Amino acid sequence: MTRPMWINGAPTTGVTTEVIAVHDPATEAVIETAPAAGAADVTAAVDAAHAAFAAWRRMPAGERAELLHTVANQLTAQTEALATLLTREGGKPLVENRDEMGWSAACFHYYAEMGRNSRGRVIPSVESSQLNLVLKEPYGVVGVIVPWNYPILLLAWKVAPALAAGNTVVIKPSEMTPLSTLALAEVFGHFPPGVVNIVSGYGRAAGAALVRDPRVRVIAFTGSLETGRQIARDAADQMKKLHLELGGKDAFIVAEDADLDVAVPGVAWAALLNAGQVCTSTERVYVHESIAPAFIERIADYAHSLRLGPGIEPTTDVGPMIGATYRAKVEAHVAEAVEQGARVVTGGRRPASQPRGYFYEPTVLVGVNHSLRIMREETFGPTIPIMTYRTFDEAISLANDSPFGLGANLYTNDARRVKQFYEEVQAGTLWVNDPLTDNDAGPFGGMKLSGLGRELGEEGLDEFRETKHLHWDFEAAAKPWWYPYGG
Ligand code: NAD
Repeated sequence: MTRPMWINGAPTTGVTTEVIAVHDPATEAVIETAPAAGAADVTAAVDAAHAAFAAWRRMPAGERAELLHTVANQLTAQTEALATLLTREGGKPLVENRDEMGWSAACFHYYAEMGRNSRGRVIPSVESSQLNLVLKEPYGVVGVIVPWNYPILLLAWKVAPALAAGNTVVIKPSEMTPLSTLALAEVFGHFPPGVVNIVSGYGRAAGAALVRDPRVRVIAFTGSLETGRQIARDAADQMKKLHLELGGKDAFIVAEDADLDVAVPGVAWAALLNAGQVCTSTERVYVHESIAPAFIERIADYAHSLRLGPGIEPTTDVGPMIGATYRAKVEAHVAEAVEQGARVVTGGRRPASQPRGYFYEPTVLVGVNHSLRIMREETFGPTIPIMTYRTFDEAISLANDSPFGLGANLYTNDARRVKQFYEEVQAGTLWVNDPLTDNDAGPFGGMKLSGLGRELGEEGLDEFRETKHLHWDFEAAAKPWWYPYGG
């Protein structure tokens, strides 16, 4: 049975007859099918979202807030079922998917309140007879396109503020993980028809149709740099508002005063969470030379001790990767590094204990340098390539030697180093002594090739609001600077 989409407040398999076979990355078996929407299905979803907009934007903000709080409560109530589905289609350990559900619910609560308190401002007028207002308005239909690594969280970061601002949405999940998103139909079932629509499909068909529909005023996208570039090209003719969260190559600097009892498991977790498939995964580690031998030995032992297995097993630390092509990229990065003289301290292969599924052992590499793809391109797998540095200036310039600028991490208790780190490192999020912790109130996004715009916080609401300036003169009097000139 194919799981239906959600268009105009009703389940539908659409006009498409094509389906997507969704695989469990831990077993490679097909678990279920989802509709592969074509352009006609996307048009139907945009029709519904467009028709629903006029009433939705006028709904009092307090009522919209209640509906968004209900979404959050339903996500919480369905945590176990949705987290299990997320693990089956995406491979992440169940504990990580329970966290994803909790963070997603919190995001809906956060924007429910922010939407209710949303305001523009009054600004000083040019003349005393005037009133000047800065007004914030929704755009209309927002297209939400997300990847497979955090399917529900990444849509929550877009859908919650978009709805709170008074927009309607069409959501297009990744073709690799559509099931948990299609299951959200129930969670949004109490909304007026058409306000939230979910279409599953391939990027080149359903995703591109959403980007090209002129009624979709905003595309909020998380995914790869290549797809982000394609979306920007497709959206250029219509001057669509784009919100792009793209790839990263996050650096982790470990200073000489770092406590290795904390830094070793901290760096390992930042690099290996979701098998290294997090946009802000630590992908490059720079350790001060004085502590490097101990750090390398300990992190290799630690990575080796982690338990690989299906995410559904409660004892699994590291699950499978999402698919064969993603694992092949990791293998190619490691192979190139080894050919160029790098040394694998632990890992570097598929685990013999898991003959099926897209598993790859947590891998620690030394002897790497910035000419290698593993230090320049997004690897997006369970790798920890380590370089040493002598001065903190050197560590900062290595961290900045990247086309990406999503996040960066530091372990130190030296305030002068922290100051230099946050002033000089080019990244949208800087974590000191607590890797990868998100905060709904803290804007998240990238510099350089890591994207455009910010999610979360007040900035995350503003991405979905147009700004208007109202200039109102209470005295409709002729002005002395009008024609005729020269008396
Ligand atoms: P992807 O770019 O292949 O796909 C992302 C989404 O875009 C999918 O839904 C896909 O169907 C759709 N898509 C593909 N081609 C399209 C097109 N031409 N038009 C419209 N939509 C299209 O990315 P992925 O492999 O699913 O995800 C991994 C990538 O996501 C990594 O690069 C990772 O860094 C990035 N990511 C970034 C963040 C962030 O916040 N910056 C967070 C998570 C993941």
